[in-house]
Amino acid sequence: MKIRCDCGGIIVDQTDYLPYKGHLISDQDWFDFLDAIDRAIEKSGPTEKDKERAAMGIRRMAGHLTKLIYQCTSCGLLYFTNDEEELETFQKSEPFEGRSILASAHGGNWKQPLIGSWDDSRKYSFKGYLWCKGLEEGEGNFDSWERLEEKYYDMLLDLKKRNLLRSAHLKKNNEIVHQWSDES
Ligand SMILES: [Zn+2]
Repeated sequence: MKIRCDCGGIIVDQTDYLPYKGHLISDQDWFDFLDAIDRAIEKSGPTEKDKERAAMGIRRMAGHLTKLIYQCTSCGLLYFTNDEEELETFQKSEPFEGRSILASAHGGNWKQPLIGSWDDSRKYSFKGYLWCKGLEEGEGNFDSWERLEEKYYDMLLDLKKRNLLRSAHLKKNNEIVHQWSDES
């Protein structure tokens, strides 16, 4: 593969071990990847075949989660592969709009955590917070426990229904009030 950079330089990808090429995994996917490696080591089974299957599974997962990054050796501009396996540069003037090149390989189907927390001892203007992708600015702040609780369970049901949730917990004054995990 050859890529022509905006500067006129040519980025060549025809061999391995290129010093101007990288493999990138989003932080949204990184811990799933580490967990999968743990499982492959600890739970793959006793036989050679089991181990081979587990190793292949990790390689497949790495291939799926990884984006390629190239740097033009003439001007230093970075290119990455997008969802359509095309190359884009990320020096964009358009707004971010939640589509960072560093985002999950699962795109909009990424399963997110939902975290709600209320603490009476908080000295900030809000004692309650809800962390969740897609909330507008200010929507995650609560001055009433009841409203936080209601919003938490609303989001929980909605995200579970749409298969977009990996885990959830709601805490009140450091006590777990509710907990849910995709694996349980
Ligand atoms: Zn260039």
